[in-house]
Amino acid sequence: MRKTIIAGNWKMYKNISEAIELSNGLKRELFKLDFESTEVVLCPPFTALAEVAEVLSESDIGLGGQDMYWAEEGAFTGEISANMLKDAGCQYVIIGHSERRQFFAESNETVNKKIKAAIKCELTPIVCVGENLQEREQNKTFNVIEDHIKQALVDIDAQQMQKIVVAYEPVWAIGTGKTATPEQAQEVHKYIRDLLKKMYGEDVAQGVRIQYGGSVKPENILELMAKPDVDGALVGGASLKIDAFAAIVIKSSEVRK
Ligand code: PEP
Repeated sequence: MRKTIIAGNWKMYKNISEAIELSNGLKRELFKLDFESTEVVLCPPFTALAEVAEVLSESDIGLGGQDMYWAEEGAFTGEISANMLKDAGCQYVIIGHSERRQFFAESNETVNKKIKAAIKCELTPIVCVGENLQEREQNKTFNVIEDHIKQALVDIDAQQMQKIVVAYEPVWAIGTGKTATPEQAQEVHKYIRDLLKKMYGEDVAQGVRIQYGGSVKPENILELMAKPDVDGALVGGASLKIDAFAAIVIKSSEVRK
């Protein structure tokens, strides 16, 4: 059985004091969660990582960065390395988010380099893939997903694959209030799992967690989680509110497949 994983992507929201308040609130609300069956990850902006790490230090809630650069160190103004994320207390890092692809020239090639650097530093990469509206309307969803997955995973072996979390995030559903239907999500999640099976074999494919992301809310999480290949969620907007994110996590933890 795959362990559910719910991650909150705070994007460029929350200053340090707000981040402390939000993480403290979530720690309180999720105090009784069964962390054996559900993994929870908070991904604040870089500026708040160390403080949130401090808040989470006596909890089972994990911490992640929203991006990283692949080099170990060097003259790369404005960038941050996997080691720096580790040093700030992270165990996870989001890689290839569609906003990075759309606004900051992230490509499948840079995603691949970042995944390798993250794994080398023992960070769990949460690798985002997903089609935009035009691609969906032109029936190119599976082609885009195949490209994203195959190119992101160039030279990643089966052992490394087991450490990766995949997030299927249809771009048209991110921050738009439009959620993919559970059937649409399941169809793509299954496609991803089948592709991983061809690339890495049945055992690895069955073990990889695939999150859904795109306007996840307390109102729709149960129907999404009920689908067999949906193993969790990557949550943007709703992760900025204590009540909403806690409700998403608690509801997910109650789904038994
Ligand atoms: C995201 O940022 O990854 C995301 C899915 O955002 P939202 O939940 O706001 O659509």
